[in-house]
Amino acid sequence: MTGVPYEEWRGRADRLAPYTDHHIDGTFSPSTGSPSTGSPGEMTMPVVSPRDGRTIAHVAAAGAADVDRAVGAARRAFDDGPWPRLAPAERKAALLRWADLVERDREELALLISLEMGKPISEADGIELRAVIGCLRWYAEVADKQLDESPQTGEGSLALVTREPTGVVAAVVPWNFPLTMAAWKIAPALAAGCTVVLKPAEESPLSALHLAALAAEAGLPPGAFNVVNGAGEIAGRALGEHPGVDVVAFTGSAEVGRHFLRYAADSNLKRVWLELGGKSPNIILPDAPDLDAAADTAAWGIFFNAGEMCTAPSRLLVHRSVADRVLERIIARAGTLRVGDPLDPSTEMGPLVSARHHKRVLSYVAAGHDDGARLRTGGPGDGLFLQPTVFDQVKPGMRIAREEIFGPVLAVLEFDDADEAVRLANDTDYGLAAAVWTSDLSSAHRISRSLKAGTVWVNCYEEGDMSVPFGGMKQSGHGRDKSLHALGKYTDLKTTWITL
Ligand code: NAP
Ligand code: MG
Repeated sequence: MTGVPYEEWRGRADRLAPYTDHHIDGTFSPSTGSPSTGSPGEMTMPVVSPRDGRTIAHVAAAGAADVDRAVGAARRAFDDGPWPRLAPAERKAALLRWADLVERDREELALLISLEMGKPISEADGIELRAVIGCLRWYAEVADKQLDESPQTGEGSLALVTREPTGVVAAVVPWNFPLTMAAWKIAPALAAGCTVVLKPAEESPLSALHLAALAAEAGLPPGAFNVVNGAGEIAGRALGEHPGVDVVAFTGSAEVGRHFLRYAADSNLKRVWLELGGKSPNIILPDAPDLDAAADTAAWGIFFNAGEMCTAPSRLLVHRSVADRVLERIIARAGTLRVGDPLDPSTEMGPLVSARHHKRVLSYVAAGHDDGARLRTGGPGDGLFLQPTVFDQVKPGMRIAREEIFGPVLAVLEFDDADEAVRLANDTDYGLAAAVWTSDLSSAHRISRSLKAGTVWVNCYEEGDMSVPFGGMKQSGHGRDKSLHALGKYTDLKTTWITL
């Protein structure tokens, strides 16, 4: 973690001068105006910091015409430009230069993230920026290590199976990990030779625009990587419907994921990859190797990033015989968590992202009460803050047990045996992640096989590596970010058959 003190972060925040225009075809440009969103003078939107409610910038807001310019630039860069035609080792070199520049500016990028979406500065720098730099470097290294295939088809023929970049990729991402979610798409897409248009969430455009400036500085050719800001219903939709986009790589809610499938169906049948929400179960069996560690990790998992995590372990399923002990420890941890200004390096939990989201999360706290769960700790704080919140006596049908809250709100359910735990765990539309705590090797394997989830953690939570795929089953989506498998989202297989 950086050693920059609190006062220094606040000073830097006061002197903030972020990029605010779209980044299209290698340069920054304002919105040009479009009939759907009004005159050019109206084509900006405020960025409000959840830290104190202050407007920290006005960014360009794209209409359909701006999206069309960005897709056009990416299209030309793909169809006629150098990027897909570069030797893979040259793409690798460009991505490594970009990663170095992100490392150079990492404190500035961390500050932008912390201000725009409220993540504690120590985590923006120590967790998010580290992940982004690691992701860019990992796919840079992959770029020149791909092999095509030549299956043995007999004496009279030569078969070649080659992987080709699919084309123009629209990456549409949320605000909770604004640059990590973007990097998980941009890095493999560019490494594969695709060109990209990124649309960040309206809450978090500033970090994305800085990333674009660094791409240009790193020497990525114009049009290879573009950023358009704007409202989802306008700019996101225009990307989803655009005939010049070949692939949509989306992370966000299931509701908006459905929209993208419709946009594709109604336009050019572009490929749509969805990374959606979750309601992940965290199962603690009585033979967990260390119950205190299980409780501490459960607390850390649900309060990390203010619970604004698609993988948040938001349903704690705990064996009745150890429930009191585990719960006492989680509640104690909730009481000591440092909730406060995200720019204070000692802060562990910042505000929720926006007034709208804060209201939504509070509505779930109210729903917990109304449905008969017991509030053990937490509730509203000042401004957009929420105290770490824990409900027990939760029943499987309650809204707080079924719906993704995306806030620091834990629902605790008890069970009597492992079969019941698995039934409860799978009783959800989602299937992003799950965890089980046990000392028994067979139970660990049996339960993890029974869980319908893209990731199952055993005796840990949120662990990972760039080499392992990440994504969901059921209504948490399909396709995988990270790992070599992600390259499959941005490439097509071609068979060339030669009769000899
Ligand atoms: P969201 O509302 O679904 O928005 C995601 C992105 O889609 C944003 O860029 C948004 O733009 C855009 N969008 C919104 N409405 C649209 C529309 N009608 N057409 C096209 N694009 C549209 O999600 P969010 O609130 O930003 O993020 C929270 C959600 O993301 C949660 O459900 C969470 O679980 C999920 N998430 C999943 C993962 C994962 O990897 N599985 C990771 C992180 C988050 P605007 O911001 O401009 O509206
Ligand atoms: Mg949104």
